[in-house]
Formats: sequence, structure tokens, C-alpha cells
Amino acid sequence: MNKKPDTNALNEQDFLLKYNSSQQDAKRSAIILTLVVIFIFMIWDLLFLGWQHPATANILWSRAVLTLPPLAWLYYCCYSEEQIKKFDFWCFVTACFIGVSILYNIYQYNRIGHILRVDGLLLYIFILYIIPGFFQKHKTWCGALISLGYLLLAYVLEWPGEKLIYGAVYLGIFNVAGSWHSWNNDRKTKNDYFNHSLLKKLALTDQLTGLYNRHGFDEKLSQLMTKADQNNGLLALIILDIDYFKRYNDSLGHLVGDQCLMAVSSGLLARRRNEDDLVVRFGGEEFLMVFYQQDGDLQTLKQHIREICPAIAALEIPHPSSAIADIVTASAGASIYRANSDTRRTQLMQAADSALYRAKQAGRNQTQVSE
Ligand code: GH3
Ligand code: MG
Ligand code: MG
Repeated sequence: MNKKPDTNALNEQDFLLKYNSSQQDAKRSAIILTLVVIFIFMIWDLLFLGWQHPATANILWSRAVLTLPPLAWLYYCCYSEEQIKKFDFWCFVTACFIGVSILYNIYQYNRIGHILRVDGLLLYIFILYIIPGFFQKHKTWCGALISLGYLLLAYVLEWPGEKLIYGAVYLGIFNVAGSWHSWNNDRKTKNDYFNHSLLKKLALTDQLTGLYNRHGFDEKLSQLMTKADQNNGLLALIILDIDYFKRYNDSLGHLVGDQCLMAVSSGLLARRRNEDDLVVRFGGEEFLMVFYQQDGDLQTLKQHIREICPAIAALEIPHPSSAIADIVTASAGASIYRANSDTRRTQLMQAADSALYRAKQAGRNQTQVSE
């Protein structure tokens, strides 16, 4: 019953989405920084081998082909709503490509008689573990695979034993330290996210029913008004008040009263047609609902508004002391917001409130819509 509003759900999926789409500036800067480092290595290739050397073109070419397209794709992902959801995966792929380009160049250098030191690869591992954008698990996989590739290469190329041991020790240390650092970082990011979500949930929702409270309502209503303006849609704001609830409490006690409030709130949640429709506990036994009609169809919207009070009666919660029925009923007042109209939220609230007053005056258990 206590169905929580979706925006506040504390689940892993939300965290992944948040993780992938956060720190955009830092991610873009990291991509540029990686490009600069690769560029510096290319200049170093040039200075070390010179233009004339037959291997230079091959080395520069392979560096460019293996690193620039994945980095360009990654940069594009920062701006793509679809790809940003898989950002950590694309980071992993890009890092693997860059690692392979380094191994390939080590092999190329070996063919022309130079055994490169492991330092270039250590710099790669260092950057890999401090860069933002992907999870420690992916980083460790990438670091371990490239390091093993290096050791395998050194073995196949029959490098001196001490080079192999030197490489294995340093790569091992860098990978373990890097994995530990990013594991800690991920854990902190995750904790911060869940703490923040929890605080936000507490601030925006009502403890008893799990519905949005006034603060949550303010935030959501602004978003919905903007959405209605953009899509030429309609919004209905409904204030609903349980009839003779004081008497209900007096007859059955506050605890049963609370259960009734929870039952009513789930009855109202069941009236939501999609994610945009909103149910709020405004205070006491008063609820607010916002229905969003994207196609602007006023008749359908009004029909849906009129179904709310019958839906509460249909819950058939016995009310021993109501003056109008033997079950719990509610009265509602609604006002309509049209896209790009001058109506502000206070006017909407006032209109719905007076409609509610009319519904109460007219005998309760009914809805009045303010034109
Ligand atoms: P009307 O039909 O005119 O709305 O009559 P009413 O008795 O519902 O009107 P009123 O607004 O005066 O009464 C609201 C009552 O709601 C008063 C209070 O006892 C009860 N109430 C407010 N908040 C809570 C709550 O959190 N739990 C419970 N059990 N009762 C609450
Ligand atoms: Mg009231
Ligand atoms: Mg009431």
C-alpha cells in the first residue's frame, strides 16, 4: 500500500543512472586530458624516432586509430541522453582500446630493437584509476587485463627476467593501490547518494502515507506546469477532504483514523494513470491530486476528476458516525490549468479550494469543478 513516489525510490537502478550522468564537466575534462597525454606521447615518439624512421608512421598511425575514435565516441556520449546511461561501459571499452594501443606500440618498438620501460604503462594505470566515469570493478578488469597483456608480451618477446619481475611488481602495486582507491571512492559516492536520497525522501514525503508532502508537491507542480506549457496540455488540481473525519476519529480512535488515511491514500494512488499524475498529502485528512492531460482533452480530464469521490466511497470503509452515509466519503474541488495561461499556482489553489467549499455546502461526497 505505501507506494512511494518513484522519483525518490532508493534503488540501485536509480543510482546507476545518477552515477552515469553525474560529473559531466569532470568527465569531459578527463577525456580532454587523456587526449593531451596521448598527444604528448605522440610527440615523444616523433622526437625519439624522428620523422625519417620507417616505424614512426606506423606507430603514430596506430596510436591515433586505436585511441581517437573511442575517445571521440566517449565525448559524444557525454551529450547523448541514450548513451550517457551506459557511460561506465563506454569508459571501459575506451580504456581497453587505449591499453591495447600501448601494448601494440611496445611491440612495435621491440621490433625495431627498443625495449620500452614499463613507466608509460604505469602512467596509464595511474590515470585509469583516478579518472571519473566508471566503476572500480571495470577499472580493475581493464588494469589487470592490460598488465597481464604486458607481462605476456614481455615473456613472448623473451625480455630479460629482471624486466619481467620489475614490470610485474610495479604493475601489481599500481593495480592494487588503484583498485583500493577507486573502491573507496565508489563506496563513498554510493553512500553519499543513498544518504542524500534518504534525506530528500524524508523532506519531500509524508511519513504516514509515503505520499508527497507540500514540499514535494511544490517541486512537482512546477515541473508539471512547465511540461503542460511545452506540450500544450492540461492540468487538473484537485483538493480532496474526507467527510466528517473528526467524528470518525472520535468514534474509532486516532489509530484507526490513521489506517483510514492510509487506505484513502492508496485508493487515490490507484487513480493515477501515469507517472505524471500526482497524489499529495496536503495535511491532516486533506489530499491534493494533480492530473496531467497531455492531449489537452478537457472532457476526459473532467470525467477522470469526477471518478475520484466515487472511488473513495467504493473503498467501503465503515464510518459509524457520518451524517451522510455509513461508509467513509470525501468531497473534492478541482481547478483546471491551461497551457501558457496566466493562472498561477495560488489562483489554482484558491479556485480548487472554493470548489471544495461548494462541494461541502452541496451535501458532501461529490466533486465540484471550478471553471
Ligand atoms: P468535514 O466534512 O467538514 O471535512 O468535517 P471534518 O470532521 O473532516 O473536518 P475537519 O477538517 O474539522 O476535521 C479534520 C480532522 O482530521 C481533525 C483531526 O482529528 C483529523 N486529523 C488530522 N490529521 C490527522 C492524522 O494524521 N491522523 C488522524 N487519525 N486524524 C487526523
Ligand atoms: Mg479538513
Ligand atoms: Mg474533512
